[in-house]
This record gives sequence, structure tokens and C-alpha cells, in this order.
Amino acid sequence: MAGKKVIITGVPGVGKTTVINAAYEKVTAEGIAYQNLNFGSFMFEVAQAEGLVTDRDQMRKLDRVQQKRLQKLAAEKIAAIDGNVIVDTHASVKTPNGYLAGLPEWVISALMPDTIVLVETDNDQILVRRLSDESRVRDVEGARSISEHQEMNRAFAAAYSMLTGCTVKMITNADFLVDKAVDELVAVLR
Ligand code: AMP
Ligand code: MG
Repeated sequence: MAGKKVIITGVPGVGKTTVINAAYEKVTAEGIAYQNLNFGSFMFEVAQAEGLVTDRDQMRKLDRVQQKRLQKLAAEKIAAIDGNVIVDTHASVKTPNGYLAGLPEWVISALMPDTIVLVETDNDQILVRRLSDESRVRDVEGARSISEHQEMNRAFAAAYSMLTGCTVKMITNADFLVDKAVDELVAVLR
């Protein structure tokens, strides 16, 4: 498949979308064409049309069968897109029934990424970012629980690498150092 596929993951509130959008602007300005796709938006488009949810943060509370169906539909649409692609998504989704693989075998094999990026930062920074984000319905979690989620995401990323041969790149998006995270992502996208 032609083009570079980069899947970008990170726990909610880590600033993933912010880092992605800034890096996307930079590579575009350099003349490198990417499509900047948000996996959750593909799922939400269907879920909303079917009347299952009214906002995107309700999707992770849907029953597991529904979530997996929406996930598969999104993966099929994204896999059909050619060229350089950025996919903004989650290594794992925290659901009431435990961690749901964001990229189970039938999803990761369809997408065949070159690299999976994990955007990470200190757990307490994420906690504060979530509390101050009024645009989203973020789960209120303690730093320990956020830490567990970030650790689980590394384990999931290793599994995805084993399935596809993709590389795994960790990028830290620390407070006041977002530019550094953006430059690191630009380097991956170039
Ligand atoms: P986001 O805007 O990235 O926080 O994504 C919104 C929601 O979309 C998440 O809370 C999940 O419910 C869903 N979502 C995004 N990516 C995936 C995925 N790969 N697998 C399952 N659900 C996902
Ligand atoms: Mg986001």
C-alpha cells in the first residue's frame, strides 16, 4: 500500500489532537501531503446517525458489541484511503467493562501502520488538563488510574508492533513543551 500510515494514540486529555493538528500544519507547509483523520469522528458519524449517542464521549460507554461494530466500520473506511495518513485514535479505550483494544487484530491488519506513536506525559498533568477541559466530557480519574492506562497503552502498542512490524514511538507532551512534542511528531511524519 502506497503512502505512510501513522497512528497516533494517547490517553484522553494528553493533548494528542493539539499535537497532531500543529504537526499536520507544519508538514503541509513543507509540501508533504497528509490526510488528518480522527478515528472517533468516523465512529461518531455513524453512532450519531443511528441515534445511539449525542456526543462523542458517550461512545466508550456503549455496549461492547456496538463499540466493536462502530470500530470495524471506521477501520474499513480509513483503510480504503490512499496516500499519507495520520490516524488520531486510542491504543486502548477505558470502558466500564475494562480496556477495549483500540486496534484489535482485524483493525490493525487493515490499517497496516508504519509507526504507532504514543503521546504521553506525567499523570498529574493529564489529571489537571482533564479538569480544565470544558469542551469534552472527560472521565474524572485519579493519577494512579491514569498511570495504569498509560502503561496499558504501551503494552497494547507492543502487541500492535508484533502483529504488523510497525515501529513504536513515544513522544512526551509535557506542560509548556508542546512545541517539542510537535517537532518530534513532524520528524516521524517527514
Ligand atoms: P477521541 O476524540 O479521540 O477522544 O475519541 C472519541 C471516542 O471515540 C473515544 O472516547 C472512543 O469511544 C472512540 N474511539 C476512538 N478511537 C477508537 C478506537 N480505535 N476503538 C474504539 N473506540 C474508539
Ligand atoms: Mg482528541
